[in-house]
Amino acid sequence: MSESNVAEVLDTQPQHDLHGRYPKAQSVADFQRNLATVQQRIAGACARVGRSPQEVRLLPVSKTMDEASIRLAYAAGCRQLGENKPQEAHRKWQNLSDLTDVQWSVIGHLQTNKAKLVARFASEFQALDSLRLAEALDRRLQLEGRQLDVFVQVNTSGEASKYGLPPEAVADFIQALPQFPTLKVRGLMTLALLSAEGERVRTCFRLLRTLRDQLQADTPPGVSLNELSMGMSGDFEIAIEEGATVVRVGQAIFGARALPDSYYWPGGE
Ligand SMILES: *Cc1c(COP(=O)(O)O)cnc(C)c1O
Repeated sequence: MSESNVAEVLDTQPQHDLHGRYPKAQSVADFQRNLATVQQRIAGACARVGRSPQEVRLLPVSKTMDEASIRLAYAAGCRQLGENKPQEAHRKWQNLSDLTDVQWSVIGHLQTNKAKLVARFASEFQALDSLRLAEALDRRLQLEGRQLDVFVQVNTSGEASKYGLPPEAVADFIQALPQFPTLKVRGLMTLALLSAEGERVRTCFRLLRTLRDQLQADTPPGVSLNELSMGMSGDFEIAIEEGATVVRVGQAIFGARALPDSYYWPGGE
């Protein structure tokens, strides 16, 4: 299949079995080509709904990828990297410390006892979902003399196994966040249902945007909800059509992962 045909298929339905579709990127040229293809897909989705591609930030997700692979991605221009697990992210940050202009984004669930790792090196944390964690991060960030951009993770799929706050709990949660001065609240994040049915996936993204629009009428001082982080390799076009400002894309850039998604998300396939 040509790249444009792949893009057409992906436009119309979410894809979650990405093996075969995305071979492992093994050279700087592979990464450049994959990044260009993803940018084209972003532009295509934006065009369909009259948005500018400049409103959408592409966050490359390097989880499970080894350091050699990350260096190729860097050479191809990646300066932000998303990682799901705090220890893996911290290890890569240490081993790649010569790449001084890389910004690390932790996008996966964080236990309170790992807050100190994230406070040390991350620029962004996208999975904030408890006040206990907010407090632990804030305390550690103060000790480090650092700040952190954060996204509040919302469970829009209704799956009990997914992380994130239930939508009805987000308003009170947001009101409590100004007490943590090192946390710079940028917006909301979600993972859609892993489903081949585009309309069910779209419902999750639409719920996040609608919730954000409602909350924006009453955001406390210092809190911004401008950003919506939603969409990954299999569904980011739908997310962009529904208002995503950040898309988190791993396999379409790095190649399919060996491990199943259930390793990252409870209840995943
Ligand atoms: C792995 C991951 C992604 C990216 O998924 P791909 O299928 O590799 O694009 C996005 N968001 C989160 C939270 C992830 O853990």
